[in-house]
Amino acid sequence: MIPLEDIPRRRSLAVRIRGVTVGGGAPVVVQSMTNTDTADVEATVRQIVELAEAGSEIVRVTVNTLEAARAVPRIRERLDARGLDVPLVGDFHYNGHRLLAEVGELATALDKLRINPGNVGFGAKRDRQFEAMIEAALKSGRPIRIGVNWGSLDQRLLARLMDENAKRSPPAASDAVLREALVRSALESAAEAERLGLAPERIVLSAKVSRVRDLVAVYRELARRSRYALHLGLTEAGLGLKGMVASSAALAILLHEGIGDTIRVSLTPRPGEPRSTEVRICRELLQALGLRSFQPEVSACPGCGRTTSRVFLELAREIEDWLEARMPEWKRRYPGVEELKVAVMGCIVNGPGESRFADVGISLPGTGEAPAAPVFVDGRKVATLRGPNLAEAFKRIVEDYVARRFGAPRAEAS
Ligand code: SF4
Repeated sequence: MIPLEDIPRRRSLAVRIRGVTVGGGAPVVVQSMTNTDTADVEATVRQIVELAEAGSEIVRVTVNTLEAARAVPRIRERLDARGLDVPLVGDFHYNGHRLLAEVGELATALDKLRINPGNVGFGAKRDRQFEAMIEAALKSGRPIRIGVNWGSLDQRLLARLMDENAKRSPPAASDAVLREALVRSALESAAEAERLGLAPERIVLSAKVSRVRDLVAVYRELARRSRYALHLGLTEAGLGLKGMVASSAALAILLHEGIGDTIRVSLTPRPGEPRSTEVRICRELLQALGLRSFQPEVSACPGCGRTTSRVFLELAREIEDWLEARMPEWKRRYPGVEELKVAVMGCIVNGPGESRFADVGISLPGTGEAPAAPVFVDGRKVATLRGPNLAEAFKRIVEDYVARRFGAPRAEAS
């Protein structure tokens, strides 16, 4: 017997961000970022609503201009008016210290400030400006994320490490020095923030790179050398499939090692593609790893030459869409329904077996098989469906199962 082991989670400090806890053993939090002009209040609110409704538990907005800074409190008001409590994170580069000083209510309208230590300023100004941002966090009682990025690494720190490395015999490879610079930039900036008075429970770290193996190496090191909560994400992951696969590969390795308290998948959307795709990928990834359950799982076989009919493909898609559409109501009425497992299989080879492993499963007829679809509930065959209303009949079986298994137990009649 091979037991399935729980993923041992790294013990990080818990950071409260509005009503959401990141780290400290809390479930891994899904987050996303808008790509609207933040100064456009309408468009930004619309996109935050879309992201939150798709399941983003934290949303980041860029705060790059005075107009954007002034728009943030109005965006918060609009969200509050809709009853949308999603925490907002302000993304600052270069001028964050100035915007936070000029727009008094900006820091409190936000729930976390993201600071990129490589983009705070240069020379002596850098330290003063970093300090000003930490002071804004302290005054508003907001946590921060020290978000280091490969593409905007603190050049002063990198030069120092390169010099130190040159004196070594033999020197380390330059990309190893770069990785160390990322880790040091995050850790030294966090130490500086603590020295300025910020509690470690108010600090989240990230160190994003664009290559999977670099990301894994960097986060393993951050996890080993600190207890800060960690935000995972591959930066510049790329377009479409490439970005999805690269992000999933990198994040899955780390999450499976128990590293990571909140995740974001940075995708470059194709024209017309909803921004919320990145949220859906995060949720699918966490669910696939068994770290969270958001919605019922549908196992569908990939199909092959044994099933040439379109019925199978259409039914698998129809059931998946239907489950998604039923979820808002089911979630209200049936706690725990996210754990439901449904199988839609294409033929007799693996169909009955896989269907038996699911809570409710259907095995459709393959080419040349009798036109009948056995349905299994909790591993037992309960019906054989035929004909054009097969999909509707199957949905009714699932609906009954959900009500029976997840519905509140009825009070015994006295
Ligand atoms: S269950 Fe049948 S149709 Fe589906 S992949 Fe396996 S052999 Fe092919």
